[in-house]
Amino acid sequence: MDDSTRRRFLKDLSLGAAAFSAPAQGAQTNQLPGRPPSGDTQAQPSHPTSTMAIAAHPGDAFFAMGLAVALQVHLGGQGVFLSLSLGERGSARIAPAQYGPLQRQAAENAAQMLGARAEFLTYPDGEIPVSEEAKFAVCDLIRQYRPGIIVTHWRGSWHKDHEACYKIVNDAVFYAGLPALDRKEPPHEVGKLFFADNWEDANGFITDIYLDITTVFDRWQEACAIFPMWRGENGFRYNDYYGSLAVTRGCLRGCKYAVALMSPAEQLTRRVKAL
Ligand SMILES: [Zn+2]
Repeated sequence: MDDSTRRRFLKDLSLGAAAFSAPAQGAQTNQLPGRPPSGDTQAQPSHPTSTMAIAAHPGDAFFAMGLAVALQVHLGGQGVFLSLSLGERGSARIAPAQYGPLQRQAAENAAQMLGARAEFLTYPDGEIPVSEEAKFAVCDLIRQYRPGIIVTHWRGSWHKDHEACYKIVNDAVFYAGLPALDRKEPPHEVGKLFFADNWEDANGFITDIYLDITTVFDRWQEACAIFPMWRGENGFRYNDYYGSLAVTRGCLRGCKYAVALMSPAEQLTRRVKAL
């Protein structure tokens, strides 16, 4: 099967979910004096849809991908946070057998606070397998929840679980949309795929979308604060980093808070009849 068929789910390049909107002709822009047009848009969301964050660990799902999910719920869609592991080896003080359930409970509470669902596949933290079993497990959850949008890890990560998640999701999206693949649920083609701006996945990450998430920023911070690791207890100050990052991204695009997202190269390709 060739690459164009494999990427069939990306063929619609009209950016139907306007919450993730591309430049719109005539839209109000945030152009600074002497700067080229930025391509900003104030387009209103038109098609609330389901957004699914698929992350290696619960912290990634909520801290790096959670604002996009929270916004979609705020706009009238559904939100799902899928973690491929519980991140149970993330604490230097608490044994994995105890930390895993704490992570699960925190994720469930945070998802509930944001009006979303939490799902888990509980592969061993640090050993998420890039296996057909894992790809089909994610495929089945995509078919079950039928998201219009998926946000996941970019492959340029130093963390092996994050890189594994990228590979798993890429193939799971393909499997989910394959009509001839018989699973419990019917096929589902994901409309859009985006990569999250994650401090561990920065190698080659190129922003092409700034999403204004000002309306859900405060709620998102409250949800993230359910996780003890949010405050830096495991060695990284997630609250300071991701909170400040949203401020920085907002400064760049003329809103109070924003998140940066990266699209797959295929998703950026357009067919036009005139330039
Ligand atoms: Zn992680």
